[in-house]
Amino acid sequence: MQTACTKDELRALLAPVRGKKIVLVPTMGALHEGHATLLRQARALAGDSGCVVASVFLNPVQFDNAGDLAAYPQTPETDLLICRECGVDVVFMPTPDVMYCGDRSITLEETHLSTVLCGASRPGHFAGVCLVVNKLFNLVQPTDAIFGKKDYQQLAILRRMVRDLDIPITLHGAEIVRGEDGLALSSRNVRLTPAHRAAAPTIHRALSAAAAAYAAGAAAADVCAAVRRELTAIDGVKIDYVELVDAENLHAVTDEARPALLAVAAFFGDVRLIDNTELRRNV
Ligand code: AMP
Repeated sequence: MQTACTKDELRALLAPVRGKKIVLVPTMGALHEGHATLLRQARALAGDSGCVVASVFLNPVQFDNAGDLAAYPQTPETDLLICRECGVDVVFMPTPDVMYCGDRSITLEETHLSTVLCGASRPGHFAGVCLVVNKLFNLVQPTDAIFGKKDYQQLAILRRMVRDLDIPITLHGAEIVRGEDGLALSSRNVRLTPAHRAAAPTIHRALSAAAAAYAAGAAAADVCAAVRRELTAIDGVKIDYVELVDAENLHAVTDEARPALLAVAAFFGDVRLIDNTELRRNV
């Protein structure tokens, strides 16, 4: 495994593998088993002859809240160990100064899928995501990239970006990786108080019950209300949103025959957790 800290180092490391399959997994570091699963999938997809690139970059441009950025965990040594264990070939670990010119003046805004869910409560977040992922795509020029469905809206927006800008890269969505108690793994989980860590699996339990109820014919509003009730019962939890939307366009469901998505964001103290589940009507 080799590590690049500058764009020139990255280009030099990738020069010999141009023309082969190159699979990129972008991350913000503080890697856990969720990231490791994506990295192992990347290794399997690239095969022995291909190249797996992981980026570890805490992208300041996608944070709408300075406190959230400052509190975000950073564990570069462990990240490198995990990348090595998962068979990564090249790790790209730039600083913000390496990544961005001080007078950068181009923005990249998706204007339909970004207006709802996390986009509604985190202004500028997805423009920052699109900008950094676009830059990573241009720097690495991968054939494939893998993103987790934990950030379902992010994946949907990046699929739209690839489609609308004709970016010649195949995107793959990876299933959500959970702890044994059902909590979706997240770099932010380490910041939960013990009481909130113990209560956080309620999110997944409530989503699973809601998925079963929706499959059996429950109304969308009742399904969302049940999830809200479960979460508001926890001390110190403030719901950002609980919404049931069309799984592709992320707006209100107009055709119940199509796949839907039940998505949640909630503050456990000052830690914002997100989770979701894909839904279908059985009836
Ligand atoms: P992050 O470092 O949070 O930006 O995440 C990097 C990538 O890992 C994103 O594509 C995430 O969706 C994905 N990811 C993070 N946590 C999980 C998880 N628990 N399950 C699946 N994918 C995840």
